[in-house]
Amino acid sequence: PLLLTHEGVLLPGSNMRTSVDSPRNMQLVRSRLLKGTSLRSTIIGVIPNTSDPTSDSEELPSLHRIGTAALAVQVVGSNWPKPHYTLLVTGLCRFQILQLLKEKPYPVAEVEQLDRLEQFTNQHNKSEEELEELSEQFYKYAVQLVEMLDMSVPAVAKLRRLLDNLPREALPDILTSIIRTSNQEKLQILDAVRLEERFKMTIPLLVRQIEGLKLLQKTRKPKQDDDKRVVAIRPTRRINHIPNATEDEDEEGDHDDVVMLEKKIRSSSMSEQALKVCLKEIKRLKKMPQSMPEYALTRNYLELMVELPWNKSTKDRLEIRAARILLDNDHYAMEKLKKRVLEYLAVRQLKNNLKGPILCFVGPPGVGKTSVGRSIAKTLGREFHRIALGGVCDQSDIRGHRRTYVGSMPGRIINGLKTVGVNNPVFLLDEVDKLGKSLQGDPAAALLEVLDPEQNHSFTDHYLNVAFDLSQVLFIATANTTATIPPALLDRMEVIQVPGYTQEEKIEIAHRHLIPKQLELHGLTPQQIQIPQVTTLDIITRYTREAGVRSLDRKLGAICRAVAVKVAEGQHKEAKPDRAEMAEEEDCKEHITEDAKTDSISDTADLTLPPEMPILIDFHALKDILGPPMYEMEVSERLSQPGVAIGLAWTPLGGEIMFVEASRMDGEGQLTLTGQLGDVMKESAHLAISWLRSNAKRYQLTNASGSFDLLDNTDIHLHFPAGAVTKDGPSAGVTIVTCLASLFSGRLVCSDVAMTGEITLRGLVLPVGGIKDKVLAAHRAGLKRIIIPQRNEKDLEEIAVNVRQDLTFVMASCLDEVLNAAFDGGFSVKPIVEHLNSKL
Ligand code: ADP
Repeated sequence: PLLLTHEGVLLPGSNMRTSVDSPRNMQLVRSRLLKGTSLRSTIIGVIPNTSDPTSDSEELPSLHRIGTAALAVQVVGSNWPKPHYTLLVTGLCRFQILQLLKEKPYPVAEVEQLDRLEQFTNQHNKSEEELEELSEQFYKYAVQLVEMLDMSVPAVAKLRRLLDNLPREALPDILTSIIRTSNQEKLQILDAVRLEERFKMTIPLLVRQIEGLKLLQKTRKPKQDDDKRVVAIRPTRRINHIPNATEDEDEEGDHDDVVMLEKKIRSSSMSEQALKVCLKEIKRLKKMPQSMPEYALTRNYLELMVELPWNKSTKDRLEIRAARILLDNDHYAMEKLKKRVLEYLAVRQLKNNLKGPILCFVGPPGVGKTSVGRSIAKTLGREFHRIALGGVCDQSDIRGHRRTYVGSMPGRIINGLKTVGVNNPVFLLDEVDKLGKSLQGDPAAALLEVLDPEQNHSFTDHYLNVAFDLSQVLFIATANTTATIPPALLDRMEVIQVPGYTQEEKIEIAHRHLIPKQLELHGLTPQQIQIPQVTTLDIITRYTREAGVRSLDRKLGAICRAVAVKVAEGQHKEAKPDRAEMAEEEDCKEHITEDAKTDSISDTADLTLPPEMPILIDFHALKDILGPPMYEMEVSERLSQPGVAIGLAWTPLGGEIMFVEASRMDGEGQLTLTGQLGDVMKESAHLAISWLRSNAKRYQLTNASGSFDLLDNTDIHLHFPAGAVTKDGPSAGVTIVTCLASLFSGRLVCSDVAMTGEITLRGLVLPVGGIKDKVLAAHRAGLKRIIIPQRNEKDLEEIAVNVRQDLTFVMASCLDEVLNAAFDGGFSVKPIVEHLNSKL
């Protein structure tokens, strides 16, 4: 098989990276080099393509007669900007084409090997002496050239050794591919089949390079080192097995470095206090032997000090109208948050300073908190840096370690400043609610110092040990819940709640933002993949159950990956192998090497580049890619027995529906509670039982033996599934009562109703928090009726109209109303008189 290359000329003994994108070459790579995902060790013929590279026509161009047999050592496929492979090939020997066996889908030829290394060594030639002389001359030039390069670079040292160890015959090819030569010159060397000729032709090239180097060194004496490096690094790219040499420390340069460092310190704009400290350290450094561990420590310190953006800042640009457009473009929905952010920016613009509360976005994961932070930085034209605080429990994470520690380093704030390189970035303090506490001091206290506008103009990191002005930094915080933010910190912040999204909002977000982003990420275009809205809805309802859009985004990513594979394989089009072509393939199989027989038919199917029909993602495709739906368990199935009711819970991850299950058995009146409940929730359970016991007669509720004393000879077990998640709070009160009422009456709770509310011992229903998130969760789960406390009615205004339209709300102020709404046909109170009559 022949690979035609436009980009370079491969010579025996050297490596070349070449990009392959013509259908002919792509087909060759697929059927000859790849076996599934691994590489076959097939020898291919690399022929320099001397014809016009732009004419990518069907016709095979006239082939250069001589080429290099090669092994592919690496094949990397990519789909962007168009499907192509990058090959790393290593040249073995020259060959010439005897006869072209076939042209399609890629050329295959019968060839003859032209140079065989072992032949040269015992070659008896008339002009043997002359050859000897030529090779000696060549070797001398080669050594001269290599020794002009920087020998401290490992690649160069290795090259020097190769000169002595390789057979002389191999040198012309190898050196030609290293030095600066044009493709035309390389082609001539390739064509020089006779060794003598090859030596003769390469010597002038070596001499030219040597002269060039000399000139360079003369004209740029002061920067000599750099030039050496430029030249020296070239071979490292070409010779594969020589490791990359990037660090080339100059031994004696160390002293110079200290002088340089001092210069940099003096010319930097650091504060006076910092300058004093640095100069003192430099003095110490000069006296210190380099082998001392402290030497490196001090140097690192000084380098950091120089690098810090003491006085460097970006210029703020703020135009409220532009900011509004930018925020709207980047984010769908979240009106309340966007409005508040604009107000904040407007005030900043008018007041022209940063003093004031710190914005803190609180909401479930994946609702766009980080992304809004990024947009704020963008509107201001500032750098953005995210500092993850989740799990930080050591104050030195914020404030750095003292330099006396081994492995000491600055804290995250200073590190962040070094990363962004300016002193007025936007810092996003992510997950302030997950700060820990430990013996190493309270990180919250350190953060307070960072955030306090009265103190942060002279923030002292323990590592730096001099003050750094943080007053220009704009801090924004995010959290999932305010409950666990340290109170002192919370006090400094202005909390903006970011609730979850409705299904409709999610669909819009997916189509306006997530899908375009994922397509770009995977190198796909809308011509290749189409995701209709119904499919997005399927993903939202059947594959995810979340308040934000993070796993929706991940699922879309998974779909794009799967499609990318299909597009790259060209398989999405029906594989229709061309009959004629197959026949041809059969024909020439006898001529060519064995591995051609393993060519599968699909390999020879025509390539579809680019695909003309988009891949449509419907529910079948969805099931294929993402597996069977994860959330299909029908709510009504779980409610098919008495003793189950659906409650609504609020968690830091958004609202959730929660099943409460109860069962009773013979026993001594014990109540068992399982499902990781907090104390408040346990109390709710006791309250619920007490209220039911005291109202058992009124409702005609009896235990198994017909007694109104519900706990007589009876044990009750209440369970809150998803047993591994800790639950707490009073809002499950009404659900527990309903569940127990169902258990003792033997009646089923309506399957489309969910409820929330705190209860009192006397049967009143008190308001609870998180109504919006809870309602959204019920809506997500497809429930229709929601019982909420009367006094929460005002919270419904926050909920989008289209969600409200789908639901019926029941406002309850006492438990009687709750039970009446929870059971089909109501849960009526039997008049006591009637009850007495029936007893009689
Ligand atoms: P959080 O910080 O709240 O956990 P992120 O900011 O990381 O969430 O958001 C997750 C992803 O969802 C991001 O890619 C973000 O751009 C996207 N996203 C979230 N909300 C919206 C929205 N309203 N409009 C557009 N994209 C959004």
